[in-house]
Order: sequence, then structure tokens, then C-alpha cells
Amino acid sequence: MQGSVLVLGAGMVGVACALELQRAGLQVTLADAREPGSETSHGNAGVLTRSSIVPFNNPTLWRALPGLLSNESASLRYDPGYLLRNIGWAARFLAAARRGTFEPTVAALDQLIRLSLDEHERLLAESGQLARLRRDGWMFLYRQEPRAQGMRLQLEMYRRCEVEVEDLDPAAIRALEPALRPIFARGLLIRAARSVDDPGAVVRGYADLFTRRGGRLLRRRAVGIDRQAQGWSTHFDDGSREASARVVVALGPWSAAFLRTVGLRIPMAFERGYHMHYARAADGAPALTRPIHDAQAGYVLSPMRRGLRLSTGVELDDLDAAPRHAQLDAAQRAAAQALALGPRLDPSPWKGARPTLPDSRPMIGELPQRGLWAAFGHQHIGFSTGPGTARLLGALMTGGPTPIDPGPFAPQRFAGLGPTR
Ligand SMILES: Cc1cc2nc3c(=O)[nH]c(=O)nc-3n(C[C@H](O)[C@H](O)[C@H](O)COP(=O)(O)OP(=O)(O)OC[C@H]3O[C@@H](n4cnc5c(N)ncnc54)[C@H](O)[C@@H]3O)c2cc1C
Repeated sequence: MQGSVLVLGAGMVGVACALELQRAGLQVTLADAREPGSETSHGNAGVLTRSSIVPFNNPTLWRALPGLLSNESASLRYDPGYLLRNIGWAARFLAAARRGTFEPTVAALDQLIRLSLDEHERLLAESGQLARLRRDGWMFLYRQEPRAQGMRLQLEMYRRCEVEVEDLDPAAIRALEPALRPIFARGLLIRAARSVDDPGAVVRGYADLFTRRGGRLLRRRAVGIDRQAQGWSTHFDDGSREASARVVVALGPWSAAFLRTVGLRIPMAFERGYHMHYARAADGAPALTRPIHDAQAGYVLSPMRRGLRLSTGVELDDLDAAPRHAQLDAAQRAAAQALALGPRLDPSPWKGARPTLPDSRPMIGELPQRGLWAAFGHQHIGFSTGPGTARLLGALMTGGPTPIDPGPFAPQRFAGLGPTR
């Protein structure tokens, strides 16, 4: 029992944590209600990049607010009732856009991403999936010259964190991606960025590696958890229980609701997003070769094994509220201006939610209840940062030297999540 750990959630974060704790010699069980990598870690854009250091709540957000009030922006929409019910979270999210919080967040995310990209490379090799990795970068594209303030801030953070970026004029954009129509005035290329052609399959490959190495995988939904003299007892929806010395909660957007069952209030909001796949417009037509972000139209296009994946910006709403497809439809219209889109391939759009804490940093560390650990809240970058999260969590749980400063990610930075007892 002493070295036993139960990891709840087999998305990118949970699977990476399970692998790391197994590597540290602990006896690890991983549990998920569904097949590994079926939820948020399936539906994302598959981009792994050092440039994901500038969160949505950055100092330009204040100036952008009037434009967001119409609720028709491609990059951010919201349900007004949801925002009102979560006004405390929204106020803290806005407050964290100030330089004083934003700059430490950028530095912390940079550390986590650097660590993660090397770990992904190792895990992709160990799980025999290096062929899924593209190394040809990722592009931001602008239809009009972008707002000077936003661009200045982005480039300033890249310089500070040594993220290499190349400025692209229309001819350079066309040379890199002949599939694009000449509607873009400017681009930025992050040449060192990587991407994968099937994020869910990558997570399943990592989970297979975990079981091949002797890890135990349970397909069960956790419904509650009790503290015991020696650790924790987790209950599942089939009536079974699992005893373990420690539990890692890596339930992505479901983490906050689960932790309510032990009286913890996690300040998490849901930045929902949608995706749809498209077939090639015509045989022989040039295809997009790397992911692109049409920044002013607010969508991302990523070439995937299934087809071209269009993913949307943010919709703030309850996790389980009914889907709304206007944002995806608008993104589809905008994408069809950028390149020839073939027919839709999915019967209905996929919907998921980025789990976001007010300061846009994930929560990694021990919660106030001894033996209960947090690994969630990875907003827009959890697919990339799962493996770095695992390295940090592994070091914290085994008492080894931490690869990066754990302070910015500590649960105790939030009121109500005080010292572990
Ligand atoms: C549209 C979109 C695009 C994105 N693009 C990118 C990108 O390009 N790059 C990037 O790095 N990130 C991206 N992200 C963010 C990224 O997908 C998430 O941050 C990440 O997948 C979160 O991983 P996770 O393991 O925490 O959560 P999840 O992948 O959601 O895993 C949580 C798991 O918990 C399980 N679960 C839930 N409740 C229970 C329960 N009670 N019992 C047992 N199991 C349970 C679920 O089945 C699920 O498998 C994007 C997100 C979206 C929505």
C-alpha cells in the first residue's frame, strides 16, 4: 500500500503522470471512465510549441474587452448567465492579465513547456510513435497588419524566452504553404514547433507503454473518495473501491467537480472549443502541411490523419451545456476563404473544454489533504505540457530535486487551498 498511487484520468496529463510515477518505482494504477485519450486530449489541435507562453489573459485583454462585448468574436464567445454565475473567476482572470501576474506566468509556462517538449520526444520514441511527430513548425497568419500593441507584447515575450520566430511576407507564406489563398498580409513562423497527426492516438500509445511496463489500467468512473488511516479509498460507479496511499487527480475539466466531493473549491472555468474534419477539396490539390492559426479569424487548422481539423476559439460556458455551432460555422466560412475546404467528415462537431484557472497556470502539487495530488488546469496547452507536469509531479511526490520551480503551480497560491495537513 505504501508505494501505491491511483491516477484518476487518462488524458495526456494523467497518462504522462502514470508513466513518470511508474518510472520512479511506484506501484501505479490508472483509471478512466473511457478509453485513454478520448476527451480533451483527443480533440485538440495537436500543436507542441515553445510559443504557447502568452495566455489569453495578457495585458492586451483589457483593451480588447469592448470588442468582445458583442459576443460575436471568433476568438471568444460566452454564455452571459455562465459569466454572471462565475463572475468571481472572471474578475480574477482579468486581474491576472496585469503585468505583475502575467510576466511570472509567462516565465513559469516557458519552463513547463521547455521541459515537456523534450519529454514528449522521449515518450514518442519509447512508445514507437515518432512517425506521428511533424517538425515543420507552426504559423500565425494575419489578414491585416495586427494591432501593434498585441504584436509588440507577443514578440517581447518570445525574445525574453528565446523563442525563435521568423517574420513572413505574403510571398514567404505562399512558398511555405501553397494551399493557402493570398489573403494574408503577414505571418509569423515558429520553425521549431512540432505537431502530431492524431493527438488521441498519441495518448493511447503512451497508455499502452504504461501497461506494457506492468501498469494497471481500470476502465471505471470515479464517483467519490474517502480518507482512510493509511491513505485513500476511491469509489467507482460499478460499486468497486480502490485503496491507495496516494491519489492524483488528473481529470482535466472534470477535476473541480470531483474535488467538490472532498470539500475543495477549485476556481476552474471551461473554455469550450469545437472541431470538425474536412476532406481534401480535390485530388492533387496542394494540402496544408503544418498547423496554422488564422489569428484574426480565431481558428486553427491542423492536418490530421483523419483530414484537415478545424478547431475553434473559446466559448465560456458550463461543461455540459448544449453545444452551439455558430462559432464553428463562422470559423468554417473564414477557413474557406483561406483555402479550398472539402466536405465535412464528421457526423457532428466534436466539443470539449479547456480547463482554466484564473492565472492560466495549471495546478501541480499536493492539495490540503495529505496524499491527494493535483495535476489539472492546463488551459490551451495541456496536450503539450502533460509530460512536463508529470516530471514535476513525480519529483514532488518522491521528494527528489524538482526540474523547474514548483511555486507558480502550487495549489496553495489559491485561497482555501492552504497548507497540506
Ligand atoms: C479546441 C481545442 C484545441 C486545443 N489545442 C491544443 C494544442 O494544440 N496543444 C495543446 O497543448 N493543447 C491544446 N488544447 C488543450 C488540451 O487539449 C488540454 O489542455 C488537455 O487535453 C487537457 O488534458 P487532461 O489530461 O488534463 O484532460 P482530458 O484529456 O480531458 O482527460 C481527462 C480524463 O478524465 C476522464 N474522466 C473524467 N471524469 C472521470 C471520472 N469521474 N472517473 C474517471 N475518469 C474520468 C475523462 O474520460 C478523460 O479521459 C486544446 C483544447 C481544445 C479544446
